[in-house]
Amino acid sequence: MLAINEDRMLADLRALAEFGRVGTGVNRPAFSDADIDARRWLMAQMLSAGLETVIDGIGNVYGRSPDVTQSILLGSHSDSVPNGGWLDGALGVIYALEIARAARGMPGAIGIDVVSFADEEGTWLPCLGSRVFSGQADESTLRDVNAKSGARLVDRLTALELRDRPLARFDPDRHRAYLEAHIEQGPRLANGGIDVGVVTAIVGLRRHIVHFRGRADHAGTTPMSMRRDAAFAMFNFAIALAEVLRAAGGPESVWNFGIVAVRPGAGNVVPAEADLTVEFRDAAADVIERMQASFHAAVRAADGRFDVAVSSVPNATLEPAAMDSGLMDDLAAAAADVGASAVRMPSGAGHDAMILAPRIPAAMMFVPSIDGRSHDISENTSEADIRRGLRVFAGAISRALARLNDAGAPQPPHSLRKKEPAA
Ligand SMILES: [Zn+2]
Repeated sequence: MLAINEDRMLADLRALAEFGRVGTGVNRPAFSDADIDARRWLMAQMLSAGLETVIDGIGNVYGRSPDVTQSILLGSHSDSVPNGGWLDGALGVIYALEIARAARGMPGAIGIDVVSFADEEGTWLPCLGSRVFSGQADESTLRDVNAKSGARLVDRLTALELRDRPLARFDPDRHRAYLEAHIEQGPRLANGGIDVGVVTAIVGLRRHIVHFRGRADHAGTTPMSMRRDAAFAMFNFAIALAEVLRAAGGPESVWNFGIVAVRPGAGNVVPAEADLTVEFRDAAADVIERMQASFHAAVRAADGRFDVAVSSVPNATLEPAAMDSGLMDDLAAAAADVGASAVRMPSGAGHDAMILAPRIPAAMMFVPSIDGRSHDISENTSEADIRRGLRVFAGAISRALARLNDAGAPQPPHSLRKKEPAA
């Protein structure tokens, strides 16, 4: 059993929340001074936990358990959205730190490595740190990454003296599994009075920018019948598309119209152009493909309506990521061990675990978010839930360590096994 110390974990969580503190939350966008200060603090904690620790060339803080050749990798992220919550990402990083401390000197060939990935929240690029770690983003990707402000990522990394540091990398011979604890960021656990969520899959996403091109005219003198109003066409399209996606999606599908732009953008000018950012998500690959096909059909159907040309360009794609069934069972059994109620559920939010999942057996555990709030300083989880979450998570790691120690040499990752041709 792992000798975890809940009070020490809580003290660390509260210490981390002081970096970039804003009221009850934190403001730690990736590569801000507060984010980097937090990462240096984390590095010091991981070093004193006995881990060989680096902050690498993309800002990942990675602590490696010495004296073992294999490990379970635990972690999450310590950056935040602007004015975000104190636990989003931080909870998983501090649980990982506490479990690594508790695992020190334990017998067995498999140790605990800890990581805090950079820029999970996408200030520069969503899941930037885990993408680089797992080899899904390389030097050429990084050169093209800019913040919304126009600042270049490589310039910021240079200014922070990170650019020339070596990169920590996923090692298939070492890393046997990845587990991430996280706040739910939704209301399901809190509303159901359930202690922990065992994540079954992380939803995939398709995001498109739909462009509407009409004609600018005087809004007072142009008869309604002569207008080619791009904004009017956009609003009609959005309302129709919601029905299309409802019909094509499944019971857990969600969609969002997150950004609207109208040009030239004056009260007395008929809009000549409009852009609508649409995204939709589901945990099942076939459902998301069906929604995608229906979306494209809706764009074709709208093109030319109201004398407005309609086209779309893809803006983001994420495939759904299934979690590892053995690790899900470890989490569920560990919950039962400590008398915690658990439910299996998909994650509607993206996480670093979805980036690792194609390379390595991965799993996630959720703790309840009060009122389902997140990405805001009002985000919180009760102390009892934070403590219980650590007990369940540590129990699952103990079970996974025992299972993997018994299993011997690494197996090919589940995603590779799945790709074998059917007989
Ligand atoms: Zn997060």
